[in-house]
Amino acid sequence: MFSEDKLILKLVDENNFSDAAKRLFELQSEEWSMLNTGFKSLETVRLKSFQFEGYKIKAQFNAGRMTSTSAKVDPKSISERKCFLCAENLPIEQKGILYNNEYIILCNPFPIFPTHFTLTHKEHQPQRIIDTFLDMLDLSKDLSKHYTVIYNGPRCGASAPDHLHFQAGNKFFMPIDDDFHQIKNEYGKKIFEENVLSFYAIDDTVRKFISIESIDKKLIINTFNRFYKIYSELMNEEQEPMLNLVSFYEEEYGWRVIIFLRAKHRPAVFFSEDENKMLVSPAAIDLGGVCVFPRQEDFNRITKEQVTEIFKEVFIDENKLKSLAVKLS
Ligand SMILES: [Zn+2]
Repeated sequence: MFSEDKLILKLVDENNFSDAAKRLFELQSEEWSMLNTGFKSLETVRLKSFQFEGYKIKAQFNAGRMTSTSAKVDPKSISERKCFLCAENLPIEQKGILYNNEYIILCNPFPIFPTHFTLTHKEHQPQRIIDTFLDMLDLSKDLSKHYTVIYNGPRCGASAPDHLHFQAGNKFFMPIDDDFHQIKNEYGKKIFEENVLSFYAIDDTVRKFISIESIDKKLIINTFNRFYKIYSELMNEEQEPMLNLVSFYEEEYGWRVIIFLRAKHRPAVFFSEDENKMLVSPAAIDLGGVCVFPRQEDFNRITKEQVTEIFKEVFIDENKLKSLAVKLS
């Protein structure tokens, strides 16, 4: 199940996982027809772009995402299906790259990003961020030449909540990769800032999130752990509070982790049974600015106002963000 391509093995030896993954994607899109079909279907994807003050949010019509968007993720449905991330259930043509003897870099045959990977743990274990956050930082650094890494919580976007995984895709594909600094300048409230750490609470009127920026890995981890503890208390959660993360790494500045703060998994329109129904299930990529609609009719009628409503509905409210910022400072 691991690729034995000589170039990939050489790149992995040099710790160049970003180019190794890129090569894997090129090879797999030739040798694995399911990936080839998924990749080609991106040519038919359509986009609409909504301009907000200081940032963009796009709508993407992507029929290939139907299964994922409408996936049943309740414990009963999960226990009744075969886990599609476990190595023994992967298609025979699917090859991966072993990372740190723990994760497997796999190509995602139902892409949103032009090059889209699933980074699965080699063992079947629950999706959980608190003790794997370090892995996300390492993966995002080692893939950073080409890719950004994301995480979807088990109750707010992960379509395999029972099998630990991250995803990776092209840098700057999600508008937030580009728009972040402007958003932070315009809407950010400083929680803590010194030369090696910048910790902000941000309400850009549509989204509520926390950002942690640092070149010091330990500092980021400590800051995240502190955030996690206080946020879990605030949300009165014994399980993982609802979060989606984006980890973006640049050699010169280090990590930038964005933590989207969720109140709800899916908006009311998702469950609506009349003409208001919209199949939209926001997770990290959607909230990062590429909101996926697998049904053309939903894409055709989506407006900037509706996107705003849908996003506002799935995020925590202003007061919660304010209390969080106070407790964190
Ligand atoms: Zn599994």
